[in-house]
Amino acid sequence: MRALVWFRADLRTRDNMALSAACAAASKGVIAVFTVCPRQWREHDWGDMKVDFLRRNLIELRDGLEGRNIALKIITRDSFDGVEENLLSLAKEHDCSALFFNEEYEVNERARDARVAATFTKAGLSVRSFHDQVVVPPGELRTQEDKPYTVYSPYKRRWYAYYADGHAPKAQGLAKKQPEMVSSPDDVPKTIGDFDAEGGRPDLWKAGEDHGLSRLRSFIESRLDSYKEDRDFPGINGTSTISPYLAIGAVSPRQCIEAALDANNGKLDKGGKGPVHWMSEVIWREFYRQILVAFPRVCKNRAFNAKYDIHWRSDNKAKGQFSAWCQGKTGYPIIDAAMRQLEQTGWMHNRTRMAVAMFLTKDLLIDWRWGERHFMNKLVDGDFASNNGGWQWSAATGTDAAPYFRIFNPISQSTKFDADGAYIRKFVPELADLDDDAIHEPWKQDSLFTDLDYPKPIIDHAEARERALKAFKVES
Ligand code: FAD
Repeated sequence: MRALVWFRADLRTRDNMALSAACAAASKGVIAVFTVCPRQWREHDWGDMKVDFLRRNLIELRDGLEGRNIALKIITRDSFDGVEENLLSLAKEHDCSALFFNEEYEVNERARDARVAATFTKAGLSVRSFHDQVVVPPGELRTQEDKPYTVYSPYKRRWYAYYADGHAPKAQGLAKKQPEMVSSPDDVPKTIGDFDAEGGRPDLWKAGEDHGLSRLRSFIESRLDSYKEDRDFPGINGTSTISPYLAIGAVSPRQCIEAALDANNGKLDKGGKGPVHWMSEVIWREFYRQILVAFPRVCKNRAFNAKYDIHWRSDNKAKGQFSAWCQGKTGYPIIDAAMRQLEQTGWMHNRTRMAVAMFLTKDLLIDWRWGERHFMNKLVDGDFASNNGGWQWSAATGTDAAPYFRIFNPISQSTKFDADGAYIRKFVPELADLDDDAIHEPWKQDSLFTDLDYPKPIIDHAEARERALKAFKVES
C-alpha cells in the first residue's frame, strides 16, 4: 500500500499521528501534500504574519520529510471547494490507495474533509483520520448529564482524570523513514495569493519544529517554575510564546504536556505551581476546541451565549474609536502598548489580550466580532477556537460564569501588571520619559501633556463602565 498524507495544521514530522500511522502502514512508500488556499484563508481572516509563518514552516517541513524519504507536494486552489478533485488526482497519479490526515474542527474545514472522505471512499480508496491537534479528542469528555462541558474548571478536572487513567495517547517520535522517495518534492511558493511575502517577522518567529521544540525546552528549563508568578506581567518574558507553533502544528500539545510533566515529576495537578498552572493553560486550548465542536454556531459568527449579544455600537463615532483602538491610539497607555505589540510582532501577551478585548467590548461597546477579526488578521498564532473563545469570554457572550459585570479598568490593569511601565515604554516610546506614576495616566500631566505626541483618552472609563452595565442589564 502507498499512502497519501494530507498536512494541514500539523506541520511536523515528530508526534504526528496521521504521518506516523501512514509511515507504519505503507509498504510502497508515502507521499505528502499540502493545500494552499489563499482566498479561503482571506475569508477566514488570516493575515500576512500567519501566512508568512506558515509558508516558512512548509519549507522546513518539506526538508524534514525529504529526510524521511517523503516528497511534499503542494496544491494551490483558491478555496476549499473542489480540493477533493485535486487530492484524488494526486493520489491516483502516484498510485496511493489510502489517505491519512489529522482532524481540523472548524465548520468549513469539517465540511471540506467530509467531501474529501466521500470522494476517496467512492473511488475505492481508504481514508483514516486522527485527533492529533489535541491531547483529549473533542466530545470525549461529557458531564454526568451526558452534555458537553461549558464550564472550564469541571472540564479540567475530568481532563486530569482521563489523562491520569492512561486514556490519552502519548507523544510519538519521528515517523518511520521510508525505504525510498517515490516522487520529488515541489517548491514551496515564494508568495501566496495577495499575502505580503515581506509581511512576517522571521527574526522573532523562526520556522520549523526543531526551533519550536527548542523554544519549548528553553521555557521549561528557565521559566516554567516561575510561570505562575510571572505569567501576568506583559513586561516580563514569563510565558512560553509557543502559541504560533501550536497553532501551525510545528509543536504538538502532547509534547507540551509531557515536557511539563517531566519537569514536575510526572504530576499533572500537584507539585510545582508553575508546571501545574502552565499545563492548565494548555487545557484551556482543548476546552475551546471542544466548545467549537459541540457548539458549531460559534464558528458562524454567532454568540455562544446570545443573551449578552447586545446591540453593539456601530455608528461613525464607534468606527472612529475602533480605528483608534486598532492603531494603538486610544489614550490608554496599556491598551495602546498592547495593540502596537500586536501590529509590530504578530503576538500579544495574554493579560493584555484580555485587557484590550474588554476595552473594546465593554468600554467602547463595540462588537466582539470586529475585534476577533482584527486579531485574526494580525496574529501569528491566529487560532479560531482560542481567538473566538477569548473574544467571547471578554465580551460576556462566552463561557464565563460571571460575564457582563466583569469589566477591567484599563488604569488598574496598567498599574497592577506593568507597574514600572516597562511594557508601555517599549511599545509607546512617546511616553518613555514619564515617571512610573505618570506613565499610566499621562492625561493628568497637564503641563507635560501638550508636549507629548500622544492622544487624550477617547473615552472616560468610569462613565463607560456605567454605560456598559446599563446596556447589558437592559438588553439581557
Ligand atoms: P502560555 O501562557 O505559555 O500558555 C501555553 C499555551 O497554552 C499557549 O501557547 C496556548 O496554546 C494555550 N493557552 C494559554 N492561554 C490560553 C487561553 N486563554 N485560551 C486558549 N489557549 C490558551 N491563543 C492562540 O493560540 N491563538 C489566538 O488566536 C488567541 N486569541 C486570543 C484572543 C483573546 C481575546 C484572548 C483573551 C486570548 C487569546 N488566545 C489565543 C489565548 C492566549 O492569549 C494565548 O494562547 C497566549 O497568550 C499565547 O502565549 P504563550 O504561548 O506564551 O502562552
